[in-house]
Amino acid sequence: MALIVQKYGGTSVGNPERIAAVARRVQHTHAAGHQVVVVVSAMSGETNRLTTLARSVHPEPPLRELDVLLATGEQVTIALLSMALAKLGCAACSYTGSQVRILTDAAHSKARILEIEQAQVAADLNAGRIVVIAGFQGIDTNQNITTLGRGGSDTTAVAMAAALQADECQIFTDVDGVYTTDPRMVPQARRLTRITCEEMLELASSGSKVLQIRSVEFAHKFRVPLRVLSSFSDTGDGTLITFEESPVETARIAGIAFNRDEAKLTVQGVPDQPGVAHRILGPIGEANVEVDMIVQNTAHDGTTDFTFTVHRGDYAKAHNILQNTAQQLSARQVSGDDQIVKISLVGVGMRSHAGIASQMFAALAAENINIQMISTSEIKISVVMEEKYTELAVRTLHTAFGLDIDTQPQEEKTCRT
Ligand code: ADP
Ligand code: ASP
Ligand code: MG
Repeated sequence: MALIVQKYGGTSVGNPERIAAVARRVQHTHAAGHQVVVVVSAMSGETNRLTTLARSVHPEPPLRELDVLLATGEQVTIALLSMALAKLGCAACSYTGSQVRILTDAAHSKARILEIEQAQVAADLNAGRIVVIAGFQGIDTNQNITTLGRGGSDTTAVAMAAALQADECQIFTDVDGVYTTDPRMVPQARRLTRITCEEMLELASSGSKVLQIRSVEFAHKFRVPLRVLSSFSDTGDGTLITFEESPVETARIAGIAFNRDEAKLTVQGVPDQPGVAHRILGPIGEANVEVDMIVQNTAHDGTTDFTFTVHRGDYAKAHNILQNTAQQLSARQVSGDDQIVKISLVGVGMRSHAGIASQMFAALAAENINIQMISTSEIKISVVMEEKYTELAVRTLHTAFGLDIDTQPQEEKTCRT
């Protein structure tokens, strides 16, 4: 008998038929003798609908109240799934995040899980009941409802699995695993049977929304066996997130991620003096705006250009702050662009393969795609370009690095599929 946490995303519980199908799958796992905890998202589109509803009442809703509203989406699905399980004759019990006592910090709309009480859940499991928990939500120490950020049900599931020391956390979604890139953009994308946690972390943080980044961080920290599977098909083992690199030589590139949620800002003609980076980014940080990539050009005439990227939702705010800073620094001007995309190649195999960056730049140059910014780490190379090139660039790189289905070099195929 194993303890399994299963998470079902929005499309997997998108209508009554899908909820009935999920109930059958859960029943099947339970009937095989396993203890099952189910974490569910809101029905697809519901979180967006609630967000729009809130904005129709207040353009910038107070985040505490927004969390109260958004948390209702998941409350609907835990009740419906528990009813569907009851119809199948399964004893099931639904809980909101606050009922379980998923304790978080107080950062509304992006709260972090601090602690999970497991007594009630463990008691239910020991009594043979299936436990159904609302994803994406928790409660802070002052009893306020909090939410964990978009895609946060993944994190609820992995944190629950860590707390209960589950044998496996299964993320059921609308694709049958983690692919070399988003299969909705590149039909030639290939499913990976395994991917290292390190690579998954980089893909998630670079824009692959198949798993929320914090869920992968939890899996990494607590060594939770994590698998991504399809709730729409009954076959296949999905993708296992592993904690060790393959002993066989790993493929150079595991996958390609793209992120269209960023915007770029530049302060031109900044006096080239010590402390300038701090004076530019200090006020940005104080306004709670996160900065991703940073590029500072070498000075030529005693001035320098300073460019960085922020989340697109923070673009206007960052632009305003920067106008002020530019004046104080006597910089020439501030410019910006919120129609950009960041494309990232990820692979632990990069450590042992030289020349990946130049191969990437050559492939993009052959398509006449201009690169605006570049950043590299040990296992990732990211480039920023005009958003209109997203699809062309991702497809080009996917082909250039031999990731297209059935075109991969033989020795790489053996270690990844
Ligand atoms: P859920 O509602 O089940 O949480 P999400 O929409 O959050 O589902 O995540 C699944 C989606 O992630 C897929 O439909 C796919 O379009 C997208 N995706 C992006 N990158 C990848 C990737 N590398 N592999 C698989 N899916 C990906
Ligand atoms: N319902 C939330 C969202 O749409 C959380 C989740 O689905 O994971 O982001
Ligand atoms: Mg998701």
